[in-house]
Amino acid sequence: MQKTVLITGGSRGIGAATALLAAEKGYAVCVNYVSNQSAAEKVVDTIRQRGGKAAAYAADVSVESEVNELFRAVDRDFGPLYGLVNNAGTLETQMRVEDMDTGRLQRIFTTNIVSCFLCAREAVRRMSTKHGGTGGAIVNVSSIAARTGSPGEYVDYAASKGAVDSLTLGLSKEVAEEGIRVNAVRPGFIYTDIHALGGEPGRVDRVKAGIPLKRGGQPEEVANAILWLLSDESSFSTGIFIDVTGGR
Ligand code: NAP
Repeated sequence: MQKTVLITGGSRGIGAATALLAAEKGYAVCVNYVSNQSAAEKVVDTIRQRGGKAAAYAADVSVESEVNELFRAVDRDFGPLYGLVNNAGTLETQMRVEDMDTGRLQRIFTTNIVSCFLCAREAVRRMSTKHGGTGGAIVNVSSIAARTGSPGEYVDYAASKGAVDSLTLGLSKEVAEEGIRVNAVRPGFIYTDIHALGGEPGRVDRVKAGIPLKRGGQPEEVANAILWLLSDESSFSTGIFIDVTGGR
């Protein structure tokens, strides 16, 4: 039977590359997005043109009622959920901690970590053998920023990703006996739109000389790691992190 995977923020960047690769590997793909409907529909159309199964769902995954509705829609349209990729994320203009206000901190933490808790909660309620499910896999998209702290740019973002790592460790142990594996990828500098949100669209090219492999990464290179963690090929791995950073 075809397995269904839900990818939050599947409309662009790493999420879109993950959606396309997941479909190529035979999964039915639920593409979540928050506002860019045309980007999400492009991903879905591409999958369908290639003979795959996919649908797009608008939902702000930092809002509990929208997460609940998203999962209900996936239940209705696709049946049992096998995989969740907690990929949606954001960052804001580069600044020092001393200049950050509460509004910014709340936006970053709700979008980058509360969202992961809410989606993981809904996934566990469906996948756990304790709740009558048949198990599954959750992959969280963290960041190498959890290790470096992103000084002078966005320590708030880095801290939200540190929390994603703790969620990965704790949840992996909590549900290990219930058929669910929980792992994470930690991308380094990847060519996507996210850097423009920080006010520096060309950020990857600025820093690439400092990366051991001397280049930025492509979203598809992160997607490969995510798909491995989703698949049975990683069946004995849970609570682990794959750094996709070019050696940084
Ligand atoms: P991106 O190109 O900016 O794409 C962000 C995606 O997240 C879009 O699909 C966007 O939807 C969606 N999204 C944003 N807020 C959302 C919300 N509240 N609810 C639902 N969807 C939401 O970003 P990216 O670089 O691919 O990043 C993907 C993940 O990788 C993020 O968690 C990011 O922190 C992490 N990451 C990226 C890098 C990098 O260098 N690019 C490095 C480390 C980690 P719309 O299209 O509707 O706006």
